[in-house]
Amino acid sequence: MIQTDICIIGAGPVGLFAVFEAGLLKMRCHLIDVLPQVGGQLSEIYPHKPIYDIPGYPTIKAQELIDNQMLQIAPFKPTFSLGERVEHLEKQEDGSYLVTGSDGTAIHCQVVVIAGGLGCFEPRKPDVFNLSLFEKAHVHYMVKDPEKFRDKTIVIAGGGDSALDWTVFLANVAKQVTLVHRSDSFRGAPDSAEKVYELAQQGKINLLLSHNLMALEGTSALQQIRLINKAKEEVFAPADHFIPLYGLSPKLGPIAEWGLTIDKNAIEVNTFDYSTNIERIYAIGDINTYPGKLKLILSGYHEAALMCQSAFKYVYPEQKLSFKYTTVNGVNAF
Ligand SMILES: Cc1cc2nc3c(=O)[nH]c(=O)nc-3n(C[C@H](O)[C@H](O)[C@H](O)COP(=O)(O)OP(=O)(O)OC[C@H]3O[C@@H](n4cnc5c(N)ncnc54)[C@H](O)[C@@H]3O)c2cc1C
Repeated sequence: MIQTDICIIGAGPVGLFAVFEAGLLKMRCHLIDVLPQVGGQLSEIYPHKPIYDIPGYPTIKAQELIDNQMLQIAPFKPTFSLGERVEHLEKQEDGSYLVTGSDGTAIHCQVVVIAGGLGCFEPRKPDVFNLSLFEKAHVHYMVKDPEKFRDKTIVIAGGGDSALDWTVFLANVAKQVTLVHRSDSFRGAPDSAEKVYELAQQGKINLLLSHNLMALEGTSALQQIRLINKAKEEVFAPADHFIPLYGLSPKLGPIAEWGLTIDKNAIEVNTFDYSTNIERIYAIGDINTYPGKLKLILSGYHEAALMCQSAFKYVYPEQKLSFKYTTVNGVNAF
């Protein structure tokens, strides 16, 4: 079991900044995120876009901001469970919490901070026969560990950035890669599309444009994917694994079942400290709501700072909190 002071649900920019603010007050954090990487919306939706309203940066690319935040929190040695969705919260007799994830990770903490943004990003599933039959072992809606596909035969489906980027990357890892797209052009970045066309020309991948998915086929393991082309002919693509990358849509998920006061998919908080209606549970960033809320990164940073000042009393009930500037105290690593 993981023991920590604060369990942060969501490793987006706001969850990451909460680690920094908590670290200044000597509180340790464990973060859990359903996505395989940190960075929330910034890394998942718009990593290459410039952001113009982060104080001190006239412009900074979204992924660069996340990379900088990871450097900033490194002295406080946060721990992470990535690719795992938080499912349950269980209050303990002493008021602390046991948080459990979908892979069975158990985190014992004094305080729970929900920094879940828009909620869990859930995969958009393709409409293809037999999907559920192979879903557990052979269908992957995100690539958590590329090594899983080493020397395997894989079929990737989709026409956006994820499908293009993973096709390019896995072309050097898998035994055979087929990219299937229902249209004859891609939505993703033109330079990624160009790389995919080049790989296809060099015979390094198999590119099937204007093909529709029909069925996953195999006896116990997945063996092939049946497709149909523009001329309505059946085509078969061999596959050990199927990776449909049709994007992710956010859902509040299990958080909605925990007895928190929720208004239009957001958690109501007290703006004094961003506490929720349940003691020791806070909500910061895009996931909360209050009069005047602005869903901006900088609002979440402010909320993280105030939340930590309030959470301190649960982690160190015997101590009085004294506020100090970082210019005075510095950043004292754990
Ligand atoms: C295209 C675009 C452009 C934007 N531009 C700007 C801008 O210029 N300036 C600005 O300030 N803001 C901008 N925003 C908004 C900004 O991205 C959000 O305000 C910010 O991401 C909120 O951060 P967060 O940490 O609260 O949530 P998120 O970034 O959404 O991160 C939340 C994380 O929680 C995880 N999570 C949720 N539920 C669970 C669960 N049950 N278990 C495990 N993990 C869970 C999610 O997977 C996610 O990674 C933009 C947004 C978009 C989409």
